[in-house]
Amino acid sequence: MFSTSLLDIPEFVWPAQDQHLIRTAYRRLFRSINQSSISAEEKKEVRKAFEFALVAHGSQRRKSGEPYITHPLEVARICFEEMGLGFKSVIGALLHDVVEDTPVTLEQVRLEFGPKIALIVDGLTKLDGLYNVESPQAENFKKVLSTLVDDVRVILIKMADRLHNLRTIDSMSRHKQLRIAAETSYIYAPLAHRLGLYNLKSEFQDICLKITEPDIYKQISSRLLETQKERNRFVAEFIKPLKEKIDRLNIPYRMFGRPKSIASIANKIKTKRVRFEEIYDLFAIRIVVDVPIEQEKSVCWQIYSIVTDVHRPIPERLRDWITTPRANGYESLHTTVISKAGKYVEVQIRSERMDDIAEKGYAAHWKYKGITNIHGIYDHWFNSIKDVLETPHNDAIEFLNDFKANLYGEEVYVYTPLGDLIVLPKGATALDFAFSIHTDIGLRANACKVNNKLVPLGYHLANGDQVQVITNSRQKPTEDWLKMVTTGKAKTRIRAALKEEQKVVAEYGLEILERKFKGLRIPLEENVEAVLKALGYKNKLDLYHDVSIGHLEWPDIISKFSIEGNRLVPIRPLEVKPEEATEIRDRAPMQEGRLLINGEDAKTYQYSLASCCHPVQGDDIFAYVTAGSGVKIHRITCRNAENMMVNYSYRVLKAEWTSKTGDKFPANIVIHGIDEGIGVIERITHIISSLHGVNIRSFTIMSEEGTFEGKVGVVVTSKEHIAQLIESLSNLKGVTSVQREES
Ligand code: MN
Repeated sequence: MFSTSLLDIPEFVWPAQDQHLIRTAYRRLFRSINQSSISAEEKKEVRKAFEFALVAHGSQRRKSGEPYITHPLEVARICFEEMGLGFKSVIGALLHDVVEDTPVTLEQVRLEFGPKIALIVDGLTKLDGLYNVESPQAENFKKVLSTLVDDVRVILIKMADRLHNLRTIDSMSRHKQLRIAAETSYIYAPLAHRLGLYNLKSEFQDICLKITEPDIYKQISSRLLETQKERNRFVAEFIKPLKEKIDRLNIPYRMFGRPKSIASIANKIKTKRVRFEEIYDLFAIRIVVDVPIEQEKSVCWQIYSIVTDVHRPIPERLRDWITTPRANGYESLHTTVISKAGKYVEVQIRSERMDDIAEKGYAAHWKYKGITNIHGIYDHWFNSIKDVLETPHNDAIEFLNDFKANLYGEEVYVYTPLGDLIVLPKGATALDFAFSIHTDIGLRANACKVNNKLVPLGYHLANGDQVQVITNSRQKPTEDWLKMVTTGKAKTRIRAALKEEQKVVAEYGLEILERKFKGLRIPLEENVEAVLKALGYKNKLDLYHDVSIGHLEWPDIISKFSIEGNRLVPIRPLEVKPEEATEIRDRAPMQEGRLLINGEDAKTYQYSLASCCHPVQGDDIFAYVTAGSGVKIHRITCRNAENMMVNYSYRVLKAEWTSKTGDKFPANIVIHGIDEGIGVIERITHIISSLHGVNIRSFTIMSEEGTFEGKVGVVVTSKEHIAQLIESLSNLKGVTSVQREES
């Protein structure tokens, strides 16, 4: 225990209840540390870091009112206990906010704790300083990734920091909660996935769902609770015959049912259009054996054989990630079987070591493989990040999307002609393969041979393919190539090559213009802005490019101007067309005073309802300041929401409905069912228009193999109104599912 005198920071003494909070957080951290194999020397260092942070943060408080020091203490505990990181990370976590938020300098940290810790704290400080509202988040993530390559611990501590902030997010404003949730599901959850931190990823996603769709979250969690007993019974029944047989192997093992995360269940309900009751895999059965590493594989297959003797397997669902682990290091044997009761059940078979890696990712790799080079585990991946980072990007958002594309998803395993294994994301093409070997091979790729047969560059690779690239020195990438590749590296390199090409072309255009301007004895430099404006070009490069390829000829340019002295003056000055102004007014059909934007009456903004997600009264919404068409109101669940909130957070404003009104809003409802001829259409329209008195704006129906999908455009007054409509439509004969269209 630390001395009480420490809690009397010069000029400040914590009140008793705050002292209690600090002590509790301190004890929680040290309880785990004391149970571990951390040496006395290391413990002293941790303790020193705590004291240092305690003094540094002084009387600072969190938004929730708690003493600030409880935050770094808790982040340190998460790092140690939940992520299995070592004592250096614990120290980094304790100090993660001192340079950013207190007068302490990095130099002081270096003097007290050495250069390694200083480097980690520096990385974390840089990451923290990024929450500058004016700069696009994509720029920031680029920096996040650079630090990731420097020392992966920086990003791991950052994840723990994010997790604690999410766990204590209640004290934030709703607007801020939404932005943090968007950012988390946009980048932190995928990164956690890629680093193999499955526990973290699930918790990130669950908390995000709780924030963005609280109704759905509450519904699923209470349904899970209600059905728990029934599920336990089922698991017991399923396990019983297995247990008898596995016991005979005489090896230590654990077998249990493991519930899936709320977010993954919500996702299934949405994408598979099923009800909660119809989801068969609310849980998986996990069998974890405790055997030496050299026996793991054979014992796991022995267990597999027992499982499939008792329950009938579905062969397509067999996944062998023991023979070839996933790129994030995940190892496990998965199969889906049909239980005696006719239910599908996923069974996961693995060793204790594999289980540890699956739960804790990075840190467990570290422990088991005893790798001395921290980057050993993710070498291949880090190299690809470095690659993307080193290529200049004009657009940080483009970069982020390229990078993100490779975070999720499965891999495909292919071979070079020499038999080297290359791991690519699923969906990768022969051209992706070429770029993964070397940029020059990618840029000069002319054709590919897969398993000795000639295939087009856009050929989608399959597991086990042997790929050979045929190059041609005169080959050049084209715009079409971008559509042919999925990996970030290939996309980045192709774009860079195209831009380089464009630059050369543009230089030629610049020369042409310079000659023409020289002929008129007026300087190009001072007049180019006027040309851009008059001809509607966004940048010089595009202008020069069009001149170069002959899209824009000299007479087209000069005819727009008169020459006065050494300046070009537009003949007809551009003015705002009067139609534009009225158009914007038309797009806001709402009545006055029903909506608040940033706490103010919305009518002071030129706003309209977004057509991608059709918000209606009662929906959770936000406002987005567009580049040219005023403010748009979107639903929080809009598919574009994450992108807007993360990459353009400075354009996002808070929006809320005030009172219920008789206003009318357009919305779309999607109905699935069994096709029984036109009777269905009649019944649907009857319910909507006669029973509910709702106007139908549009109705399209498609049928295929005895089922149909209908899309009805309606005009409603509120979210509840849609819910009522969906309720009555769901009860119709022949209808299997009814949903409001998600953007
Ligand atoms: Mn923090």
